[in-house]
Amino acid sequence: MSEEKSLNFIEEIIENDLNSGKYSSIITRFPPEPNGYLHIGHSKSICLNFGLALKYGGSTNLRFDDTNPVTEDTEYVESIKDDIKWLGFNWTNEYYASDYFDQLYEYAVILINKGLAYVDDSSSEEIAQLKGTPTEPGKDSIYRSRSIEENLQLFNEMKEGKFKDGEKVLRAKIDMAHTNMLMRDPIIYRIKHAHHHRTGDKWCIYPMYDFAHGQSDSIEKITHSICTLEFIPHRELYDWLIEHLNIFPSHQYEFARLNMTYTVMSKRKLLQLVTEGHVSGWDDPRMPTISGFRRKGYTALSIRNFCEKIGVAKRENLIDLSLLEFCLREDLNITAKRVMAVLDPVKLIITNYEENKTEYLNSENGPDESLGSRSIPFSKELWIEREDFMEVPAKKWFRLAPGAIVRLKSAYIVKCESFEKDASGNVSCIHCSYIPESKSGQDSSGITVKGTIHWVSVAHAETAEVRLYDRLFKVENPSAEEGDFKEYINPDSLHIIEKAYIEPSLKNAAMEERFQFIRKGYFCLDKDSNEDKLIFNRTVTLKDTWTKMKD
Ligand code: ATP
Ligand code: MG
Repeated sequence: MSEEKSLNFIEEIIENDLNSGKYSSIITRFPPEPNGYLHIGHSKSICLNFGLALKYGGSTNLRFDDTNPVTEDTEYVESIKDDIKWLGFNWTNEYYASDYFDQLYEYAVILINKGLAYVDDSSSEEIAQLKGTPTEPGKDSIYRSRSIEENLQLFNEMKEGKFKDGEKVLRAKIDMAHTNMLMRDPIIYRIKHAHHHRTGDKWCIYPMYDFAHGQSDSIEKITHSICTLEFIPHRELYDWLIEHLNIFPSHQYEFARLNMTYTVMSKRKLLQLVTEGHVSGWDDPRMPTISGFRRKGYTALSIRNFCEKIGVAKRENLIDLSLLEFCLREDLNITAKRVMAVLDPVKLIITNYEENKTEYLNSENGPDESLGSRSIPFSKELWIEREDFMEVPAKKWFRLAPGAIVRLKSAYIVKCESFEKDASGNVSCIHCSYIPESKSGQDSSGITVKGTIHWVSVAHAETAEVRLYDRLFKVENPSAEEGDFKEYINPDSLHIIEKAYIEPSLKNAAMEERFQFIRKGYFCLDKDSNEDKLIFNRTVTLKDTWTKMKD
């Protein structure tokens, strides 16, 4: 039974606009500020903006909102483009708000000429003081009544570099008693003698967000300008500027931003984690950045599915990271190749197996036949997982213990005959006998076993470093806790296994391949790997251990 998915509120608006003939096609945009790497929250906005255009046959611009020269960088521009492409989306045009600086300057002059903008010499403290409060009206600045001619001249001089940073600003002349504080003569241009990553030193005045965003939308004829809820109070100003400049009427719509448990999602905070060395970089696999998730082994499909599942709402909430992991497992379960790796090894010797013999056993790469199969070497000495042996077995223990039988995955049934301990009392070697008639696929032994364990042949094993990751924060919502969010960093978010034994086929693993290390989780190669050293990242565990622990 197929269930028709109901439209989200933005889709409803778009369908109405198309049906009524208001627009013949839609144009959306994704407008990142290039002051950091994209995070999982941005992917919601990306999937929404690009997804709507794909659904309704429109187009989507990528527009860098680069109006703040101090925090922006071309490294960020490149990473943002990589991430969007990796997520599977293509933009129609690549634009930069800074490309509109001349046009925006002209718009400001239009406002001045209409008597709707003035140059104010007040300091930022004075401006704040006169602004009033939500319950008290503000007061006019003494510069509010400057003549149009004087304003034109001063604004030109601001552009020419006659003044220092902060000496003057250009403000829209709206209403100092307006109920919306943002409408109390908002600053639209400020002086900033700073080098811009694209326009260099051409400009020393820069438009404020509110004087760049809506106008850029309008220049590009964006029909549906979708942003997050905190911009609701800005909408009035957005509309006021479009109306008084008499330019293409783009419209702003707001949806709830994505917040997720056990992480932070503001670029300012993420930057702190990077610069203060709490993580190795923006693409550290513990970061909630798209590049971090990618490096950790997430698939683009799983992130797109996650964004689809959480939907578009008008109320903020905190989404459980487990839901993203669920979407990931759903994908990897189908696509990841099953292989064997031993992370915490102990040696198993098959007493009745011939010395120096190697058998190549066939093993399926996964439940889906399309994944194919491979052959894996089997010999007298194997590595198995230390935790698969118990000297004194617990109740319902189906793995190895003195006298117990178990199947070695894709190989034979073995019985534990004895074991040795080293000087410090740790089990150092397990001796088993095997049943030659029990070979997987042609078992005629008639014996049934309850446990199957994985293994790697000692003589054929490759070694690898394995990095296991946990939540970056100890608490669900670090931003909501008292004090600095960094106090809540999980000190055990990275566990490195320096020497794990992996089956030889993994020597040829490719960067984009995903693996299930049987019984251990999903893994992928880390970009730090090289010819001499393989490094695997654990993408996610096989099961959601956290949700269980909380019960
Ligand atoms: P941050 O607060 O993390 O610095 P930002 O909003 O300043 O993010 P921008 O580069 O301005 O980052 O964001 C580009 C687009 O992505 C904007 O339209 C913004 O609304 C959207 N966006 C940012 N964070 C989220 C989020 N958590 N959920 C959904 N959309 C988001
Ligand atoms: Mg922003």
